[in-house]
Amino acid sequence: MTALLATSDPVLLEFAELVRTEGKVAVEGNRTRWDVGGMLDAEARVLSAPEGIVDYKPDEMTAVVRAGTTVAELHAALAEKGQRSALPERGGTVGGALAVGESDFRSLGRGLIRTCLLQIRYVSAEGRIISSGGPTVKNVSGFDLPRLMVGSLGTLGLMAEAIIRTNPIPPASQWLSAPGVPTRVVADAVLAPSSLYEHEGTTWVQIEGHAADVTAEIAVLKNSGDFDEVDAPDETQRPAPAPKIAVDAVVSALNDQIKRNFDPDGRLNPGRDVLAA
Ligand SMILES: Cc1cc2nc3c(=O)[nH]c(=O)nc-3n(C[C@H](O)[C@H](O)[C@H](O)COP(=O)(O)OP(=O)(O)OC[C@H]3O[C@@H](n4cnc5c(N)ncnc54)[C@H](O)[C@@H]3O)c2cc1C
Repeated sequence: MTALLATSDPVLLEFAELVRTEGKVAVEGNRTRWDVGGMLDAEARVLSAPEGIVDYKPDEMTAVVRAGTTVAELHAALAEKGQRSALPERGGTVGGALAVGESDFRSLGRGLIRTCLLQIRYVSAEGRIISSGGPTVKNVSGFDLPRLMVGSLGTLGLMAEAIIRTNPIPPASQWLSAPGVPTRVVADAVLAPSSLYEHEGTTWVQIEGHAADVTAEIAVLKNSGDFDEVDAPDETQRPAPAPKIAVDAVVSALNDQIKRNFDPDGRLNPGRDVLAA
């Protein structure tokens, strides 16, 4: 379901006022991925998205959060109820994480960033608040705009508020690593690792779940390679972002068409190119 001006929240209405109806404009989060997709046009006004957790329903596993809230703040609130989300927590904001659209390196356990966004409220190039998606699957009809906004680098709309799906923090968790074990071998051996990747010759695995299951999975893993229990990987041991792939000319043309439909005058986050990200 997509609706125009679907809010009476004065905070969101004030954000829409700031975006105005003309002139180049961008939103900054914490600038941890600021130059992804190209440098911002120097003429653009730079705004901050509204902040704050508006509503959190642990039983329904949904949180309504304004886009300028840091992912760390959201996750701290969720952790009090034993929950987390698929948003990557690397110093940025909810809006920034959604705009960049990279999934967390533990996405096997936490879910993909694209699927954790249930509803988005954004300010369009015409300065209107658009609300799309809904807190339950049944509310969603028509094109899935929330998923289109993920990874759009703020070029289609400036995100103001999101409903994020939450999920439980498993009671037990353990990282293991081993030199040179093919990830395929691990995937075949253990039931559902929360993270699995190879980095500079080392294979990293995170096992999560109930304590007894984690213990059993660790035993299976140790039978399939020279695995040791280790601390969580630090920044230097995490996987690098996926390499860029060549974009088909037809896809590129379609992309331009979508951008023109959302933002005919090129006022939203000018200078960013999602295909260059
Ligand atoms: C060392 C390091 C490693 C990282 N590794 C990962 C990783 O592995 N996986 C991962 O997913 N992320 C990673 N990140 C990035 C992190 O996830 C950021 O939280 C997030 O992606 C960007 O958030 P930000 O608030 O800093 O956005 P910014 O850098 O401020 O903005 C990024 C882009 O989003 C746009 N934008 C920001 N807010 C909005 C909004 N409300 N509406 C529309 N557009 C908006 C900006 O205009 C800009 O184009 C890493 C960051 C660092 C510093």
